[in-house]
Amino acid sequence: MTLAKYKEKRNFKVTPEPSGDELAKKAADKHLLYVIQKHRATQLHYDFRLEFEGVLLSWAVPKGPSLDPSVKRLAMQVEDHPVDYGGFEGVIPEGEYGGGTVMVWDTGTWTPESQSADVAAALKKGDLKFVLHGKKLHGSWVLVRTRGFGSSSGKSWLLIKHRDEFASTEDIVATEPKSAVSKRLLVDIARDGGGDVEKAATGDPQPKTKVEPQKSASKKPSAKNSAARAETPRRAKQ
Ligand code: MN
Repeated sequence: MTLAKYKEKRNFKVTPEPSGDELAKKAADKHLLYVIQKHRATQLHYDFRLEFEGVLLSWAVPKGPSLDPSVKRLAMQVEDHPVDYGGFEGVIPEGEYGGGTVMVWDTGTWTPESQSADVAAALKKGDLKFVLHGKKLHGSWVLVRTRGFGSSSGKSWLLIKHRDEFASTEDIVATEPKSAVSKRLLVDIARDGGGDVEKAATGDPQPKTKVEPQKSASKKPSAKNSAARAETPRRAKQ
């Protein structure tokens, strides 16, 4: 567990993300942090993070978590992050690594189902069972390593809800789209942080009734743009 890769990818003189230099002292805390950050970068994804041995083990989950035990969500393991990254909500400048808007979608603590001493072994084996104590997610979950291809070999996991009283068919990423700490949507975070508001808005729930771009309004959109416009009614209305 090292932050070398994390630091190498970032210029902390430019990005407001934590450098991780102030984390070590807090690592002794017995309550292990759990956080999911909704990240509207090149692709929208949910960064699932579990504190372990002074860092945040991290997986990028494209579709986010599902409360339905029959649904397995792909989780690509990425570099460990500093523990204080778990409190980061804001805008990563465009052009920087992960440029875009970050929301603390859920936060709380986690408990390994095995003895904590066995977590390292469970990770190595590729079968980590744990309980989440978040604001949105609760109960028993598992991360299982699966076969990956090429560069993703060994990095592909599946995030799955275990059957318990917190399992449900509710589409929680759709029903609970706001920040767990500030109640803001991505578009609000982008606006407050001087980020790309239109890009951020595409990661928020879209209105059910699509507003067709008016033919006479603005310049005729190219075929390439019309699809994107249909998904951004805010813009089409102008
Ligand atoms: Mn990310």
